Amino acid sequence: MGVEVNKDLCTGCKNSSEPVCVKYCPGDLLMIDDEGKAAIRSMEDCWDCMVCVKLCPHKALETKLPYQLADYKARLVPEIYRSKIIWKTEDIEGQCEVFELQTKTEDSA
Ligand code: SF4
Ligand code: SF4
Repeated sequence: MGVEVNKDLCTGCKNSSEPVCVKYCPGDLLMIDDEGKAAIRSMEDCWDCMVCVKLCPHKALETKLPYQLADYKARLVPEIYRSKIIWKTEDIEGQCEVFELQTKTEDSA
């Protein structure tokens, strides 16, 4: 699969010393390009952990399914909250499903 950068949404996180996508990609695959936007160095080395997708504060990153699995329109988008993640899926026919996962218990919040 791989990550796609929406250059319209990416700000380059200019106010931070290091953008979170660059800082936390476990494969050190993300960088800031000459236009000041996030870019992936090597798509084939991305293992779709989705750390960057979940952390981007501007929702500028998206995991792309390969065309062998799904048409371009299929999407999987996380929404991050303090104690949960909501994953929204959309298939190639526009059908949506929502999955809510608790990331913290009441005791640990
Ligand atoms: S975290 Fe998001 S907005 Fe910031 S540089 Fe990365 S992709 Fe762009
Ligand atoms: S999905 Fe994971 S491996 Fe791929 S670019 Fe994002 S953080 Fe790096």
